[in-house]
Amino acid sequence: MNRHPVTVIPGDGIGPECVNATVDVINATGVGIEWIERHAGERVFKQGIASGVPQETIDSISQTRVVLKGPLGTPVGFGEKSANVTLRKLFETFANIRPVRELPGVVTPYTGQGIDLVVVRENVEDLYAGIEHMQTPGVAQCLKLISGKGSEKIVRLAFEFARSEGRGSVACATKSNIMKLTEGELKRTFERIAPEYPDIRSWHVIIDNCAHQLVKKPSQFDVIVTTNMNGDIISDLTSALVGGLGFAPSANLGNGIAIFEAVHGSAPKYAGKDVINPTAVLLSGVMMLKHLGEFAAAADIEHAVLVTLTEGRLTGDVVGYEKGVRTSDYAKAVIANLGRRAEGWTVRAGKPIRMPEVSRSPVFRTARSKDVVGADIFVESGLDPAALGTSLEAIAAATPLKLKMISNRGTKVYPDGNPNIDCVDHHRCRFISRSGAPILFDDALALARAVNGTHEVCHIERLLKIDGADGFTKAQGED
Ligand code: NAP
Repeated sequence: MNRHPVTVIPGDGIGPECVNATVDVINATGVGIEWIERHAGERVFKQGIASGVPQETIDSISQTRVVLKGPLGTPVGFGEKSANVTLRKLFETFANIRPVRELPGVVTPYTGQGIDLVVVRENVEDLYAGIEHMQTPGVAQCLKLISGKGSEKIVRLAFEFARSEGRGSVACATKSNIMKLTEGELKRTFERIAPEYPDIRSWHVIIDNCAHQLVKKPSQFDVIVTTNMNGDIISDLTSALVGGLGFAPSANLGNGIAIFEAVHGSAPKYAGKDVINPTAVLLSGVMMLKHLGEFAAAADIEHAVLVTLTEGRLTGDVVGYEKGVRTSDYAKAVIANLGRRAEGWTVRAGKPIRMPEVSRSPVFRTARSKDVVGADIFVESGLDPAALGTSLEAIAAATPLKLKMISNRGTKVYPDGNPNIDCVDHHRCRFISRSGAPILFDDALALARAVNGTHEVCHIERLLKIDGADGFTKAQGED
């Protein structure tokens, strides 16, 4: 028999209960899995390993390329890093796939609407790159990085996933109306790639309306592709539509690596009590079996879960902990129901996902022309905008740059300042080429040094024209 090697990480809190139940059910299908147990999370932090992921776990994952993982806790006082994030970054699992579906017996306000949708969340970029700096003692900044390469990978994966499951539409949810360059990158990439998938309906929805529509009429959605933070939030929302975190599985996919885990965490207050709902990890196991090409076993488990729920065997998160079935009894019931089919309920047939092939070169896009036409010099200052503006104009007077405007948290405050703005001590001072022709970045650096002689420069950004188009956005109120 073909045995698939899988690294299994029991995890923390309720993790071992959920993972043991899942391993027992998968083994009962007869699929040959060689489970290689490794650890990460709390117990590893407590051994003094700051990443929460020991080398032997990394080695095992590098070898097996497939992981079934329980939730990992991040204990306060043992380093700040999340072992989950470390694993996702270490293995560049760029896509997080989070399906939810209506389930029998799990009554929600949406029961009967047939919710069956998937959030495909970009998993490594965006604000979650975690690049944060204090700009002044009172102003913090987090860089939102969205790359063309990352956008192309996640968009292609969303369409490929839709095809693998025979799904009819992919919606792209962004905040591109406000963040035109970052969120807009995903939208533009989506619109460029969608015509390559004429069999799948594609549409764009602004993320806040997406949240609204998901609550109002969730059945209109099939696959939703979105950026990291948007996806983090709406996928918790979508799990609530079908009964909560106890029913929300996920797959983290990278090139050649796949980590399957529940959306939920380690819920420490229920650890060891044999009361929690293992379905989310169990359905993550179903996703893992599909990834391994074991579609029949995957369908068997999903059907057995449906039968078990139809029988009214519900855990405490659904019916209250005084009435709920025990975790271990639920797993036994699923095993007993393997081979049965729930009347009136179907499972999706699947085929392997074709992983997108996107160039691994760091230079994903080249420009025919790239000109520096100015610089935003960020200044920490308690001066009022008019005093700061007059001073900066004098400093720049004999240079190739001139002050165009100052903005405070994105709104123009000089010249013609808006008296309603409650300024903070972080000013974006926009200098542009005095002649209108491209300048040397060195000229901007020299100006920043001169500004720093009188004020406190905290940050500098080039203003680029890339292939003739502005590579920067305007402030509120800027001409
Ligand atoms: P959580 O562990 O997901 O638990 C939040 C609540 O969700 C629980 O108190 C419980 O609700 C419910 N819940 C979650 N899973 C359940 C299940 N299988 N069955 C029944 N109910 C379930 O979130 P948290 O309390 O914010 O986080 C706890 C720890 O987990 C933290 O250290 C966090 O960093 C970590 N975490 C890990 C992951 C991961 O490994 N991927 C993800 C998220 C969080 P009630 O209280 O209403 O009963």
